[in-house]
Amino acid sequence: MDTYDNQDEPRFALLLRQREETIRAELRALDNLPNTVNSMVGHEVLDFKDVAVEETMARLDRANAHRLEAELLQVVSAQRRIAEHHYGKCLDCGEAIDLRRLQALPSSAYCAACQTRHEHEKFPRHQAL
Ligand SMILES: [Zn+2]
Repeated sequence: MDTYDNQDEPRFALLLRQREETIRAELRALDNLPNTVNSMVGHEVLDFKDVAVEETMARLDRANAHRLEAELLQVVSAQRRIAEHHYGKCLDCGEAIDLRRLQALPSSAYCAACQTRHEHEKFPRHQAL
C-alpha cells in the first residue's frame, strides 16, 4: 500500500485549497438563490403547484448547503492536519491512510476500515435507496 509522505504536503495542500475554493463558490451560489417566499412576493398568481416545486427545490438547496458545509469543515481540518504535519494518518486507529484514498478524497480523516465503521454507526438502520 502506498502511503502519504510529508513530501506530498504541498500537493495535498493545493488539492485541499482547490476543493475549499470550489465548496465556497458553490455555497455562495446557493446563498444567491432567491428565497422561496420572497421570490413569491410580487407574483400576481400563486400557483400551489409552483409553490410545492419551489419548496422542494429550497429543501434540496438546504440539504446541499448542509452537505457542502460539512465537507468544508472536513477540508479545513485536513488543511490543519497538513500544517501540523500529521495529515494522512487515520484519526481513529492512527494507521496511515492509503494514498489512493487520499488522492480520491483529500479530506479523508479515517482509513477505509474506520470510515466504514463510522458510516455504520451514523446510519445503524441503513436503508437501501
Ligand atoms: Zn483507522
